[in-house]
Amino acid sequence: MPLMRASPLPWLAVGLVGCAGPPSLGSPAHLVDLTHTLSPRFPYIAIGDLTFPIRITEISSFEKAGVYSNKWELTEHNGTHIDAPSHFAAHARGLDELQARELFVPAAVIDFRAQANADPDALVGVADVQAWERAHGPVPARAAVLLWTGWESRAGSQTTFVNAGPDGTMHFPGFGEAAVTFLVSERQVSGIGTDTLSVDRGRDTGFAAHRALFGADKWALECLAHLGDVPPVGATLIVGAVKVEHASGGPARVFAVW
Ligand SMILES: [Zn+2]
Repeated sequence: MPLMRASPLPWLAVGLVGCAGPPSLGSPAHLVDLTHTLSPRFPYIAIGDLTFPIRITEISSFEKAGVYSNKWELTEHNGTHIDAPSHFAAHARGLDELQARELFVPAAVIDFRAQANADPDALVGVADVQAWERAHGPVPARAAVLLWTGWESRAGSQTTFVNAGPDGTMHFPGFGEAAVTFLVSERQVSGIGTDTLSVDRGRDTGFAAHRALFGADKWALECLAHLGDVPPVGATLIVGAVKVEHASGGPARVFAVW
């Protein structure tokens, strides 16, 4: 059974030991859902008439038709979601072209709350990654490096989550271009993620982190939840991204297990 030999996770093998019936995936000791519930109240980046909160319209009800279903209208970047390389890199892979093994990877969580608290424009630099590595060891190959800024506590409010100044400039922390370049070229990460609206700082309109990341054919997760419940190292991330043709991104149900 290849799954027993290839499994990176002890609990997968444990679930199969002595299994007389169909293989079981067993139960991980820890399972955390890193996904916000997407609703019309969830914050989003307002760009003219281009973007909007999800619109949910009932198209069939039990009362009228005996069956319940809704129509959704959303952009590819509402709520907890993944960005594909094609979002910022021409001719790069769309979401449907990401491989399963890229979405099932070790997680490395950087606690950036102190810096974010002190300065909403705080930027993750190479020194921050190296400080993390001194405490926890090298970022594992193929990892997803996730930024825990504490921004999640603001997610109930468009105003505080976006945190725009009087001139409309958004203020929330993000990855610096040098840190992203270091992670993709020196650490071979699969992707990066954050609990804010963007892996770039809110004030950075050149999207240097996005460009460095997607230029290297990697992905990004935005608006993650519950990163504080995940250890800095040792968890595996499972990214259940939708698979839509040529998508630049899309909603994702994201789990950490260990
Ligand atoms: Zn996005």
